[in-house]
Amino acid sequence: MANTVLRTKSASTSHHLPAKVFEELEIVRDPGNLFHQTIEQVLIAADLVKLKHHQQIILAQPKNEIMVHFPVLMDDGHHQLFKGYRVQHNNTLGPYKGGIRYHPDVHIDDIKALAVLMTMKCSLVRVPFGGGKGGVRCDPRKLSTDELRRLTRRFCSAISNQIGPDYDIPAPDVGTNAQIMAWFADTYQQMMPEHTRQGNNRIVTGKPVELGGSVGREKATGQGLVDVLVEMLPELDIDISDMTFSLIGFGNVGGWTGRLLEDLGAKLVAVLDHSGAIHNDKGISCHDLTEHVAQTGAVGGFSEAAAISQSDFYSMSVDVLVPAAMEQMITAENALLINAKVVAEGANAPTTPEGDSVLEERGIEVLPAILCNAGGVTVSYFEWMQNKSSLYWTAEEVDERLNRHMILAARRVKLARVKYECDMRTASYCAALEQIGRAYDLTGVFP
Ligand code: NAD
Repeated sequence: MANTVLRTKSASTSHHLPAKVFEELEIVRDPGNLFHQTIEQVLIAADLVKLKHHQQIILAQPKNEIMVHFPVLMDDGHHQLFKGYRVQHNNTLGPYKGGIRYHPDVHIDDIKALAVLMTMKCSLVRVPFGGGKGGVRCDPRKLSTDELRRLTRRFCSAISNQIGPDYDIPAPDVGTNAQIMAWFADTYQQMMPEHTRQGNNRIVTGKPVELGGSVGREKATGQGLVDVLVEMLPELDIDISDMTFSLIGFGNVGGWTGRLLEDLGAKLVAVLDHSGAIHNDKGISCHDLTEHVAQTGAVGGFSEAAAISQSDFYSMSVDVLVPAAMEQMITAENALLINAKVVAEGANAPTTPEGDSVLEERGIEVLPAILCNAGGVTVSYFEWMQNKSSLYWTAEEVDERLNRHMILAARRVKLARVKYECDMRTASYCAALEQIGRAYDLTGVFP
């Protein structure tokens, strides 16, 4: 039976915790720390694939952690000091790659965790990049357009010596978008010698199409998630054209996933975002909801659905729940309420380890983030290649190549699951680490 291929025991319950590496690196494990959680999960997989000890130690810490403080002129005339980070985790497979986040809760250990996930994601989906991540602690909703532009230009100039179009390539993440990438790219290009200007537009991906962005980049993460579902759901006895689903987050990832699933016949019945939760048994039109969110900034107040509580949202019976908002939202408490057959992680690290255990005990399949949301970095890679060659692809070419990367990555995870007899998350790390381990074996450690 196909299901027995997908459903096997969690590796986390059958292997020793990677305490030895933590001890050697003098990391005092804090169970609530996202970086520690992420490294622990990666090291469990590293043991399974028998990754060499020195490679485990290298991967358990980022190569570089950059922290900057920079002043920005605010609209009322005063200067405010902001804190920004760029973490470069690993570049064995290619230049560091990862988004830049603007959010009030940006903390170094979260950025480090997200950089690790980028290393794993790029390796799993076989794009020739390493892992990085950045962020500025700020609330973009409270900044004017002028303030956002000045902040972006100052942040870019503060880290410009540490990044590069063949060295470390940022992209959008939560709170940033194509407009911010346009300011970022322009600032970087202005700072470089005039004759290198055109080649330097590869400094970021996720740019507007007019400035060298790729068609299909905006929807890429949602599209990649849908490609994974099309590959995985039949083996879990779910018919995508007839399924129900709910979304946490209706931003870039949640909104595109919703619209693309709706186009395949699936029915959205509930959405939770920062403003609250809404529900309609008969189905919520993703296209109408998109217009509402564009006008009001949130799903709350949508006239074609009723407001519900968060606990009613989590308890809602659906085939698939897609968390596409922030990290750590599916806790043990929420996981006990979840009434879905599958959780498909659109967001990075949306499930806590405790939440994971509860979902596993309850027989709910988790399709892990480094697989489900890899479509974004894959089309970022396509954008970077198109910028390098000045040869631009059609939307159909982008979709077709993205689909190929996603399907092969999904199959890699299924194979690793059988080979290493572990859960899907561990299998995705195993498939990623096999590739990184081979690269390290070939080069050795300098000198
Ligand atoms: P976004 O800013 O476009 O949307 C974020 C959504 O999360 C919004 O709907 C917001 O209302 C919701 N949200 C915020 N706080 C919330 C809370 N406390 N409770 C419920 N909802 C909340 O961001 P995005 O680009 O869609 O990214 C979402 C997630 O996907 C992040 O984890 C991001 O790292 C990950 N991701 C994004 C991309 C991409 O290409 N955009 C690629 C890979 C991974």
